Amino acid sequence: MFDNLSDKLDSALHVLKGHGQITEVNVAETLKEVRRALVDADVNYKIAKEFTNTVKEKALGQNVLTALKPGQLMVKLVKDELTELMGGEAAGVNLSGNPSVILMSGLQGSGKTTFSGKLANYLKNKKTKKPLLVACDVYRPAAINQLHVVGEQIGVEVFSDEGNQDPVAISKAAIAHAKENGHNVVIIDTAGRLAVDEAMMTEISNIHTAIEPHETLFVVDSMTGQDAVNTAKAFNDRLNFDGVILTKLDGDTRGGAAISIKSVVNKPIKFIGTGEKMDAIDVFYPSRMADRILGMGDVVSLVERAQEQYDEEEARKLQKKIAKNAFGFDDFLKQLQQIKKMGSMKDLLGMIPGAGKMLKDVDIDDDAFKGIEAIIHSMTPDERSTPKIINSSRKKRIAKGSGTSVQEVNQLLKQFNQMGKMMKMMQGGGGRQMMNMMKG
Ligand code: GDP
Repeated sequence: MFDNLSDKLDSALHVLKGHGQITEVNVAETLKEVRRALVDADVNYKIAKEFTNTVKEKALGQNVLTALKPGQLMVKLVKDELTELMGGEAAGVNLSGNPSVILMSGLQGSGKTTFSGKLANYLKNKKTKKPLLVACDVYRPAAINQLHVVGEQIGVEVFSDEGNQDPVAISKAAIAHAKENGHNVVIIDTAGRLAVDEAMMTEISNIHTAIEPHETLFVVDSMTGQDAVNTAKAFNDRLNFDGVILTKLDGDTRGGAAISIKSVVNKPIKFIGTGEKMDAIDVFYPSRMADRILGMGDVVSLVERAQEQYDEEEARKLQKKIAKNAFGFDDFLKQLQQIKKMGSMKDLLGMIPGAGKMLKDVDIDDDAFKGIEAIIHSMTPDERSTPKIINSSRKKRIAKGSGTSVQEVNQLLKQFNQMGKMMKMMQGGGGRQMMNMMKG
């Protein structure tokens, strides 16, 4: 996501790293590069200019007041401003009605049908919601069919009325059907065109006026750059929609749409689509997105994923073991298995600050742990709990048993020892010290 922009911003901000002080000259130089990076990423020139002007004012104003180094300060200012530009806080969807009616709008191919399915699935997984999907594309039987396929896949009912050419009538019938059948959310997928045209705009605004949805969402393909922003403006002028859905952020997008859209239509981005599958949906958090754009990783998402796997009881046991110096290879193996449950290695490492960029072109094998696991499996229980006893003849036996070399066994033992030391440090109140080290 946004690799190019991240690279360019990184090198722009690097200019200041060597300087001890912020001056008008080095700020101007840095921000010129930042602006160029934004424009190259398809951010509207005016927005990019306003952006760098704001950052400049803040940078020069704060110069004396901060203990941060100029490079760090600038990264912070750029990050804060990017966050602000993308909307500040995360925005939710209005689900206050019974049923809550959500109207989807956007061009054909933007990902409306896919996103309708993703949102239905997302809400259904919240247990308290029973969504109904509604097919209102009266021109393309294939689109109706596509929604039925999606609905079947996620186990959500789809309402359609093939042959009926009146989307307003279909929407009303669907809402009545929802009321009768206990659906508390109705998601209406509408017809799109390849470009903004009057007939489509009239049709969607007629539906909008007739059913008065609780939430109107505008779906847009992030790969379309400046066009995305123009389309958003055209739809917003007619519908005054409540929020934007940015799709295909998993693709090779330059990022301009994500950065500019909020300031052009003054509506928040609410969700993003990051793949074709039904679970590739994420709530949009401006601050996390800014972190990603700046190549600072997405530590919060990483922590959230870790928390999903976190077992308090296990963690307590582990802590005791570390305190008693009794952390052995069996525990190590358990930890490895937990990490693996969190997702693909490349995904996880990509969320660590600084790692994303380094790993961009590296092919990370999710089986990388296999060798380590094989070595541990070839150890006796005694060796696992008291690694100290592993002498050179034991090493040879372990290497042979695991199909590895003595060198690899040595390497693992060394890493294991280092990890032990590190854990001790974290426990002994050194946690903050470690965090600071990581922040660099
Ligand atoms: P609609 O015409 O607006 O309903 O668009 P569709 O939902 O049919 O999506 C158009 C194409 O984009 C389909 O091939 C989808 O699988 C694909 N698509 C939709 N959302 C995403 C996304 O977030 N990432 C990727 N990679 N593809 C997507």
